Amino acid sequence: MGFRPAVHRIATALNLTGSVRNDTRGVVIELQGRLDRIDEFLRRLRGRERPPMARIETIETVDTPTVSGESAFVIAQSDASGTALSQVTPDIATCADCLREMLDPADFRYRYPFINCTNCGPRYSIVKTIPYDRPNTTMAPFEMCDRCRLQYGDIDDRRFHAQPVACVRCGPRIHLADPTGRVLATGTEPTLKQAARLLHEGRILAIKGIGGFHLAVDAANETAVKRLRQRKGRDHKPFALMAPSIERIRRYAVVDSTAEAILTDPRAPIVLLAKRPDAPIAPSVAEGVASYGFMLCYAPLHHLLFAEGPEVLVMTSGNISDEPLICDNDRVLERLGGVADAFVMHDRRIYRQVDDSIVHQVAGGPVPIRRARGYVPTPILTSARAEMDIFAAGSDLKNTFCLVKGHQLICSEHIGDLADAEVYRHYAESIEHLKGLFEVEPRLAVCDLHPGYLSTQYTQSLAGIAVMQVQHHWAHVASVLAEHHLDGPVIGLVCDGTGYGTDGAIWGCECLVASLDSFERFAHLAYYDLPGGDRAAKQAIRPTLSLLKQAYGSEFDPTMLSAVLERIEPDGDKRDLIIQQLDSRFNTVATSSLGRVFDAVAALLGLGDYNHFDAQLPLAIEAASADGVEETYEFSLTRSGEDTPMTLDLRRMLVAMVADILGGVASRSVMAARFHNTVAEALLETALSAARQTGLEVVALSGGVFCNGYLLARLMRRLNDSGFRVLWNRDVPANDGGLSLGQAAIAVGAVGG
Ligand code: ZN
Ligand code: ZN
Ligand code: FE
Repeated sequence: MGFRPAVHRIATALNLTGSVRNDTRGVVIELQGRLDRIDEFLRRLRGRERPPMARIETIETVDTPTVSGESAFVIAQSDASGTALSQVTPDIATCADCLREMLDPADFRYRYPFINCTNCGPRYSIVKTIPYDRPNTTMAPFEMCDRCRLQYGDIDDRRFHAQPVACVRCGPRIHLADPTGRVLATGTEPTLKQAARLLHEGRILAIKGIGGFHLAVDAANETAVKRLRQRKGRDHKPFALMAPSIERIRRYAVVDSTAEAILTDPRAPIVLLAKRPDAPIAPSVAEGVASYGFMLCYAPLHHLLFAEGPEVLVMTSGNISDEPLICDNDRVLERLGGVADAFVMHDRRIYRQVDDSIVHQVAGGPVPIRRARGYVPTPILTSARAEMDIFAAGSDLKNTFCLVKGHQLICSEHIGDLADAEVYRHYAESIEHLKGLFEVEPRLAVCDLHPGYLSTQYTQSLAGIAVMQVQHHWAHVASVLAEHHLDGPVIGLVCDGTGYGTDGAIWGCECLVASLDSFERFAHLAYYDLPGGDRAAKQAIRPTLSLLKQAYGSEFDPTMLSAVLERIEPDGDKRDLIIQQLDSRFNTVATSSLGRVFDAVAALLGLGDYNHFDAQLPLAIEAASADGVEETYEFSLTRSGEDTPMTLDLRRMLVAMVADILGGVASRSVMAARFHNTVAEALLETALSAARQTGLEVVALSGGVFCNGYLLARLMRRLNDSGFRVLWNRDVPANDGGLSLGQAAIAVGAVGG
């Protein structure tokens, strides 16, 4: 972003001729001139004149023959093979220079809510088609004024070829509307003043941002937050928060230096931060979890609003329940007219809806849990060049898809759960849009093994394209391999909710010896029966009864256990019905899901009985775990035959745990920690067995359960202590949001790179 103009500036200033162009693996610069000036060029490029968003990993220099008659330095628009390059970059938070100008009364963009430059502002969300020029963006209807045009055309200006450049005279404007669309205020100051007043009064505002609308309320106002929950149809899932500065966030949450670096990153994600006790935040913002999700203001409008608004705002996606994010002015009134009391609108169209990204810390570094605004469409590069363009369909849950072109794996932003009809339609449209934007014509498509996945059915309906199906947990491991530019084999430990297995069972806790070519199932959690289909992932009583029945075997006595079971499902008849179902194995499925074990244990510990949102119970048990506990429960790892995978058996843990609960011998937080420790120890034992058998020393961790910070940190430490090299997802989520990357990497390997 702004890199080639910067190169042009330095080269021209030093009187060097030649060219700069992108290719799929980086930037190629040809320079001709005095050697000392070329050295000076490299010094400056590495130093202060490097554009703020550019990251230089390495510079390689080679001597090339002199070109005669060269008289200028030019910016080339395509790579060496003549392929047009995607110049579409992510949406970037307002930079320090623009912020300074916005607060400078002498600047002609003083208090202008759409100030931007080459280093910041919207990109991906406003591009309709390529090439990335203003007429192809939603800025097309705004004709630049003379002052803006001058900067846009000046290669020495910070706004050279910044397509969304605008000012109050020529660019987009804000206004305030009521739920019927009636205009309540126009112009920056009246709109901001009224919006801030409504927020102070506890009203719900819909605020149009970069990638869509947010629903905003004063985060300290419990009545207002509750009203928002009720109107939006969202019972329990924590709300994201926005604040104007790190200092402000520190009053509510723990911000260490790593967290500060992630928060202030130009990609401006939501960062999960440990709550401060007694933080003055309404309790219903984030109940039953140990962290708040905070982001800093990232659009100029946010900065202006906070100057007059409440201390901290809830800023949650502008949608109903799990529908796609709303980004259109008419649609927001239609869908959210009954949710928001007023609407802060603007007249720049958002072409692509992009959610806020969510990031947490793993081993002192950022890892996305939801990868969207700011991160997309930055590609992940492969060492192998794909022989053909590829489409990877992703998972049905937390869907992203991935397009492969050359060395680039281009993952889409978080699309959502495809079971929602609106989300599914958005999925299909997004695939078409991104294919156009990146000029990808897939000749191979890759999808999950699950025959019932909508993404599988979508892929199989594509005409004239070869389809390849990849097992879910193999793709999880491959996502780690792809990020680390490895082919494998490695020992893959995948801890997950559900994924379709090669034997038709629902896999979930797997040790795979895997490369990009193939995998072998080395071990898995012992199968147990899950009764009642989809309800088993929500109602904790279902996995709980199944696991206890298995753990106690012939000794299983629901009456004896009723003290613990009643807390989870008070209705004894319902419990009996599930037990009968387990006896007859009617509508049950064999599974090795670890996510459901977390549900059951959380429920046994009295932390809840239902997943109102994804991973509610696992998050609760993580939050409840005490620090400094070293004990574990017993488990076993056995092999029944030569050619069968090892099975990991947690029955003894469950029996011991129930005894502890009934005996009241340990506190809930100690038992929660012991449970995590047991799982970590069992996985370590599995990895050690796999290492003994294969000689491999590298372990790759992936799967949604690894969003659990306690488990991940503990397991990493134990693996490191045992001499393993441990790899984990850093660029894409460990959950199903990273699945498409793994599918794509396997497909690249299959067609030959
Ligand atoms: Zn800027
Ligand atoms: Zn202007
Ligand atoms: Fe998964």
